[in-house]
Amino acid sequence: MLLAKDGIFPITKDSLGRQLGEMPASGFAFPGTIQGEGKLCGMPSLFVRLAGCNLHCRWKKAGGGFSPCDTAYAAYETRDARQASVEDVYRTLLMNRGNIRHVVITGGEPFLQAEELRELCRLLKSGESFHVTVESNATLYDEKVAQYVDFFSLSPKFPSSQGGKWIVRKEVIQQFIDCTWKRGKDFQLKFVYSCEKDIAEIKGLLARLRGWKNEDVLLMPLGGTLEEMRANAKETLEHCIREGWRYCDRLHLALFGSQAGV
Ligand code: SF4
Repeated sequence: MLLAKDGIFPITKDSLGRQLGEMPASGFAFPGTIQGEGKLCGMPSLFVRLAGCNLHCRWKKAGGGFSPCDTAYAAYETRDARQASVEDVYRTLLMNRGNIRHVVITGGEPFLQAEELRELCRLLKSGESFHVTVESNATLYDEKVAQYVDFFSLSPKFPSSQGGKWIVRKEVIQQFIDCTWKRGKDFQLKFVYSCEKDIAEIKGLLARLRGWKNEDVLLMPLGGTLEEMRANAKETLEHCIREGWRYCDRLHLALFGSQAGV
């Protein structure tokens, strides 16, 4: 599978259990970090970041200029990406798990590598029984992958992130939601709030979906840095309270800053 430059993180050992030369970016001498966003915020976790994305997000900022994808190095500036076997990724996670039960597979867009993703999720749900989250922009769905996933973190992107181009795939999002009901899993719909127009888009989308509750809907301020996020926080919060949606923080920005691999 094609991993982004931070690949599997934060870790201290390779797939054979050998100590790595460098400390993890978290600054801790042990593996693991926390999930910084969403329903599982604060949960000790190991991350696998896959490279490549079928979208190219770039939000226009209210004060001028653009806010790019906060993981552009995983999405479309992938020159530092590297190949690793699924077995190697799985073994590395086992060597670094300690007391951690949660693995988060993120990107880029993980469903672009559906075959490898399915095999990794299958291994994670076998003997060692991890809890598996997959973070996705919800434009691609694969039932063979979904059967091994516990939690879908779906983050559809609106035209405000694509220069006005409509890329929300309502039928794909519905497939994810239906899967959670059919197979007893959970999901969240996590939207980035960049401007007032997003609210109408979100409401329009929700009106066309079945099987969700307000508790499943999260609104997160736009911002790749703590300062940017704080600047958008109040407006985001106001919309959350009015609509009954959850406010979604980016706790890792406050704890670790905007560096990769945490
Ligand atoms: S969908 Fe996510 S990973 Fe892909 S470009 Fe947009 S923000 Fe980045």
